[in-house]
Amino acid sequence: MFEFESYKEIKLSEHFTLAEAAWSALANRFAEVNEGQLYLHQKLAEKVELYFREPYGPIKINSGQRSDDIYQILKKMGQAPSATSDHFFACGRNPFASGAWDIVLLHADAERAFKEVYQKIYKEPEEVNLIGQMIYYENRNFIHFSNSRILLLNKDFAAAGGHLHKDKFLISPKIGNYKVYRG
Ligand SMILES: [Zn+2]
Repeated sequence: MFEFESYKEIKLSEHFTLAEAAWSALANRFAEVNEGQLYLHQKLAEKVELYFREPYGPIKINSGQRSDDIYQILKKMGQAPSATSDHFFACGRNPFASGAWDIVLLHADAERAFKEVYQKIYKEPEEVNLIGQMIYYENRNFIHFSNSRILLLNKDFAAAGGHLHKDKFLISPKIGNYKVYRG
């Protein structure tokens, strides 16, 4: 775990810090972040820099990591947070959550950017495998962007302190879903 006070100094990439990626404005608190989760934030930052920050300029992270206590607070507030969201970053409530941010493009048309990025990525099958989901929410004008779940089986994730183990969790590419093996 990292101290909340250090989040501002922990850079995920050129333009993003852990403070922005782990803050919940609605719940008014930071999510607790461990080493494995930091790795997932860094991977996400890499892609968001490449696809959105570089071509479209400054970005605000509207919603980043959601810890279990943030989830409980949102529920009490009458929000309807998903219990299996990728925003959990592989924490208890969803060990398969690969990490997601909701981003707002401050100086660009998000819908246009979304369509352009879609066109760019989906021409490259290898790139498609490196990202999870990309969703444009028209009414709130933000883009949900998540890591590929393949990252959770990556040895670098385990080396960084990630808690998933290959022998317990396997992805079945055939059904595009995952199976849990309880050993
Ligand atoms: Zn989202």
